[in-house]
Amino acid sequence: MLDVEKIRAEFPALSQLINEQPLVYLDSAATTQKPLAVITATEQFYARNNANVHRGRHTLSEQATLAYEQARAIVAGFFNIAVSELVWTKGATEAINLVANGLTEQLNIHSTIVISALEHHANIVPWQQLARRTGATLLALPLQPNGRFNTGQCVEFIEQHKPTVLAITHASNALGNITPLEAILHAAKQQNTITLVDGAQAALHLQPDLQQLDCDFYVFSAHKMLGPTGLGGLYGRYDRLNSLSVYQTGGEMIESVTLAKTVFRQAPAKFESGTPNIAAVIAFAHAIKYLKALDTANVYVHEQAIFNYAAKKLQAIDGITIYSDLKSNIGTLSFNYKDEHPYDIATLLDGYGVAVRSGHHCAQPLMQHLGIKGSVRASFAFYNNRQDIDLFIAALQECIALLD
Ligand code: PMP
Repeated sequence: MLDVEKIRAEFPALSQLINEQPLVYLDSAATTQKPLAVITATEQFYARNNANVHRGRHTLSEQATLAYEQARAIVAGFFNIAVSELVWTKGATEAINLVANGLTEQLNIHSTIVISALEHHANIVPWQQLARRTGATLLALPLQPNGRFNTGQCVEFIEQHKPTVLAITHASNALGNITPLEAILHAAKQQNTITLVDGAQAALHLQPDLQQLDCDFYVFSAHKMLGPTGLGGLYGRYDRLNSLSVYQTGGEMIESVTLAKTVFRQAPAKFESGTPNIAAVIAFAHAIKYLKALDTANVYVHEQAIFNYAAKKLQAIDGITIYSDLKSNIGTLSFNYKDEHPYDIATLLDGYGVAVRSGHHCAQPLMQHLGIKGSVRASFAFYNNRQDIDLFIAALQECIALLD
């Protein structure tokens, strides 16, 4: 059993009052709270260890470089990938843009890019732009009316269209539904399709082994995995990664520069121009160490138990429509109450100290697909307990009584 109370004590933000009520934080899909290990590591870096990396010969700089590269090794170990296959970015968004831009020279009017209507805008817009630049065709995988994939239909679609690129989420940020990736990626591999998986939501909950998952690219955001904001990562299978053209240019990513010409370094350096977010990288490694020290299986069991407990209570309320797939989910409940505006529910819940997200969740095509303008989203992490759910449901019932 996971000792949730001990865990909660390590997340200082969780023990505060909001609007004079104990905070019930159900917005981990937007960003997770941070454990003390991450807060302390950030402070320590700026208080004692601050220096730029990869440049100085002085002690502080060498120590910072070592800690920075050790952090890369820790995070690469977490995903079971080589250090040379991990590029630091400022988030999942930048990582997807890096790949979409880097593929420009590899696509043309005969190319097909496949995404899905379930994607976050960050995994739609960069591909639209790539299609515009190259003349490639952009298609969406078939999605059932309830927002779930039918694996057989997806496989057939991939066999029919033989995409050059397939970009798909590991789990929906709006619904929490887990994508049946294995069959989809296998079908794509048969067509020699370049595959990118958006792991922004799933990485914390599913802790994927990327060798096993067997995609070409996988992106994530540190701030959704207990780490700092302003940092993300791109895994790229080394040959695919190195074949991308450079995204941003400048210092650090070069082998040599003359006024006439520049020779770039190999990946990952060639995608890391400028001074990186050193403190965030180091603090993120502390988040990963913290996560690895917890019992992964127990974390998953606890998250699923909290999710199921909340889903049952929510289902029991008259007038609630739930959009999330309750059978295959990372722990997110997306719902509406009758035709009340989701903003109103979220605003009222905030008065009870309950933090949820409302709106389209940067997934407007999905909302259009489901025929709704938006939803209320309660998203859970392993630091949520049953009391959070009880307070959330009690507050929701009071909000409903006010609205009815
Ligand atoms: N993809 C998904 C599925 C997301 O949930 C998010 C963040 N909401 C992103 C991409 C973009 O992540 P970031 O804003 O951290 O770059």
